[in-house]
Amino acid sequence: MKTYDLSYISGIINAKIIGNANFKITYLSNDTRRIIDGFNTLFFALKTNTNDGHKFVLNAYNNGVRCFVVEYMPDKVAEMPEACFLIVSNSLTALQTLAAAHRRLYNIPVIGITGSNGKTIVKEWLYQLLHKNIEITRSPKSYNSQIGVPLSVWNIDNNTKLCIFEAGISMPNEMTALEKIIQPTIGIFTNIGEAHQQYFESLEQKASEKIKLFAHSDIVIFNRDNKIIKEVVTKTNGLKTFTWGEQEDCDVRILSIHKHSNNTTIHLSINNDHHRFEIPFIDDASIENVLHCLTTCVYLKQDINDTIENIQQLKPVEMRLFWKKAIHNSYLINDSYSNDLNSFKIALDYLYQQRQSDKLTVILSDVTESSSGNEAIYEQVVRLLKETRVNKLIAIGKQIAGFKSLFENEGISTSLYPSTEAFIQVLPGLTFSNENILLKGARRFQFERIANILELQTHETTLEINLTAITHNLKAYKNLLKPATKLMVMVKAYGYGSGDAEVAKLLQFNHVDYLTVAYIDEGIALRKAGITLPIMVLNVEESGYNQLEQYNLEPEIFSFHQLNNFYNYCVQNGIIQQGIHIKLDTGMHRLGFLPEEVVLLGKQIQEQNILFVKSAFTHFAASEDATEDDFTNLQADLFIKSCNTLEMKIGYSFIMHCCNTAGIERHPQFHMDMVRLGVGLYEGNKQLSGGETTIPVGSLKATVAQIKHLKEGDTVGYNRRFKATKPTNVATIRIGYADGLRRSMGNNVGEVFINNHRAPIIGSVCMDMCMIDVTNIPVNVGDAAEIFGMHIPVKEVAQKCQTISYEILTGIGQRVKRVYIEE
Ligand SMILES: *Cc1c(COP(=O)(O)O)cnc(C)c1O
Repeated sequence: MKTYDLSYISGIINAKIIGNANFKITYLSNDTRRIIDGFNTLFFALKTNTNDGHKFVLNAYNNGVRCFVVEYMPDKVAEMPEACFLIVSNSLTALQTLAAAHRRLYNIPVIGITGSNGKTIVKEWLYQLLHKNIEITRSPKSYNSQIGVPLSVWNIDNNTKLCIFEAGISMPNEMTALEKIIQPTIGIFTNIGEAHQQYFESLEQKASEKIKLFAHSDIVIFNRDNKIIKEVVTKTNGLKTFTWGEQEDCDVRILSIHKHSNNTTIHLSINNDHHRFEIPFIDDASIENVLHCLTTCVYLKQDINDTIENIQQLKPVEMRLFWKKAIHNSYLINDSYSNDLNSFKIALDYLYQQRQSDKLTVILSDVTESSSGNEAIYEQVVRLLKETRVNKLIAIGKQIAGFKSLFENEGISTSLYPSTEAFIQVLPGLTFSNENILLKGARRFQFERIANILELQTHETTLEINLTAITHNLKAYKNLLKPATKLMVMVKAYGYGSGDAEVAKLLQFNHVDYLTVAYIDEGIALRKAGITLPIMVLNVEESGYNQLEQYNLEPEIFSFHQLNNFYNYCVQNGIIQQGIHIKLDTGMHRLGFLPEEVVLLGKQIQEQNILFVKSAFTHFAASEDATEDDFTNLQADLFIKSCNTLEMKIGYSFIMHCCNTAGIERHPQFHMDMVRLGVGLYEGNKQLSGGETTIPVGSLKATVAQIKHLKEGDTVGYNRRFKATKPTNVATIRIGYADGLRRSMGNNVGEVFINNHRAPIIGSVCMDMCMIDVTNIPVNVGDAAEIFGMHIPVKEVAQKCQTISYEILTGIGQRVKRVYIEE
């Protein structure tokens, strides 16, 4: 990596320096969760729609960062005596300017990819096809935004011989900024579709925005059969093209494409040489992606026969990293499709940031393809391992073995194996305990064989929690609020079933104002996980009073009995001030003080003078129901009057709140000081009035344990509820009513989604299993079926069970593994 003097950077971005600028910068960061080597990092405090990086400056400082690009001086400067601030008028522009200046130092081919779909896959596949011959720097994951692109470009260094960067836009006028940073010499325009269409008038307008990425490129590669792209390309003066498609004058001419059950035969000609070959995909998107990659390789003058052979080996792109539960109480991240320094760094970042314990283990193969090891690369590997505080390294391969002393000199406990096979031989005798293991190997090492042994295989039913969807949904709801309205998020019932601590950490990072749990235990779990936000507890019992104080939790108080009890407890324990939240019952008739009790309530609180009202709230009985809007209005009215009375009696004001999810959406006039977001954060598929649609957060998945081939007359399951009327293929999947799949979903009521098809659940659902009809669906043992998630909305499942999404979400069994993914 290149190192810059901070004072030099300051000149590039035209900043005013406050503090001593005598620092060397290697890394850039905008996210305190991803800081590894703080001392050599320049932190950019960026303002986005949902967050303001200036709030994280102190946090970054405490993570070792000393250099900051800011728009104004942050709070608590006195606590950061060694810090150096570069003050600029816009931190994002500064980041982009710096990256563009860095890019200009390198006179090498740079591929820029844009288009509505397939950018990340084309980028990763090109990498898979080309990296053996040439040193490549590429965007990590799908870093293609106004922030992601400069961070990607920063990774170019003196070893880089080719770059592949993707550029994504969601609004007009964004592409010019990205063009200045990437400065692509070769363009790939994948396709044009509906994604992000809300900000564009037409597909043509969006295409002519995207083509701006290639304003200074030597060539643009695209599919000539795509009329819209062809037209914008033609309209752009002086743009040279290299194309594939059916017409005769395409550089790569497609003669035929035949799909079979699990592969596709492609017949094409290049300069009148014919080539016929198979690719291991059958979906249109993959075929298109393959052809973009092939055409690019032809343009780059790669040997066509090698390219075709390598295409057969392309692996589906695993776009996300996530934890799997492994043997011996350990967790595993399996990232074994590539092993280059850049993706190694990303995987280490994830390992460190999402670690579940401090025992970090890395299983690593040879890093480069060349047979002689390159010392400089392994020095970087050692540095990265050190920085992420990895304690244990299992190194596999002949090349990495040559650098044993390098690892041991740094105090990393290292064991060496010449091959994957040799490691697998001894693996059963090794012990791992409570370790967080990263499996990272080049493809030829076949680390998936190690993963199969390490992963816990007993019951593979999982609830996948999409953390990216939570951030998206949170932002979508925030858009419905006035800036001053506070946001409380309900994480009761373990975050509506999705596992509370992970969700709460993300909410804390996104600066919600309050969290609410149902019981004290849930609040304690959050505190133990490092949550510092204020937490309200809905249902506090006497036995828990002492823990309220210990864990800094704030109780809801709903009756005189509870009020007096709690007050007495405080007096006896010398507590002189304690925050509480007053629940008012304005018509729900569940918990709460009635409006006529508020005068007495206020008087007592005022006289007792220990309990401090932080907020008062009520709960609507039917905020989602238009036919009950009169009643909702009445509740709000009673609530406001009661709050006024209470305020007068106690002599100070407090936060007032009454809206749950449906109230936030339907009754903006009642948002008041704060709202309480619940099911809306998790459920998904809701089009909000702000224009955004929410994304489902949880996907419940189970795997196929066995497949049966029935003949006419055979039956399935208890009491023979399903009778085959024709030859039928049945798959048994590992989920039953004990996991939360309702029995009422059996007997053709419910469906699951498997291998791109819906399959009905047949026969009765059993305790741990159920059976599905897969007669016309290609299915193998081990394939995963979705019970609900991206393809089957949880609401549909709820309706089929004659209940509401809340009950389905919170009814998922504790033994179902929660895995967290980020996209
Ligand atoms: C659960 C709960 C909410 C959230 O309700 P949703 O309908 O899930 O948004 C709000 N307020 C109180 C008091 C609750 O118990």
